[in-house]
Amino acid sequence: MPQYFITKKRKMLVPKPRSRFLLVVCPECGNKQVVFSHATFPVRCNSCGALLVKPTGGKAKILGKIERVLG
Ligand SMILES: [Zn+2]
Repeated sequence: MPQYFITKKRKMLVPKPRSRFLLVVCPECGNKQVVFSHATFPVRCNSCGALLVKPTGGKAKILGKIERVLG
């Protein structure tokens, strides 16, 4: 069996959502902070404590402005 087939099948069996690190700007104070796009816990601004990431069970809701995707 060709190897690419196995790889393809594995990808289908384990569907993983794309997870990334994002550079988010705090809407309250403008502080820039790196957050995980699939955080399972709330992330608060290091500077003012405003909520930046809200976990939803799947992809986290980003409350700040996403300035850059870090990959
Ligand atoms: Zn802030």
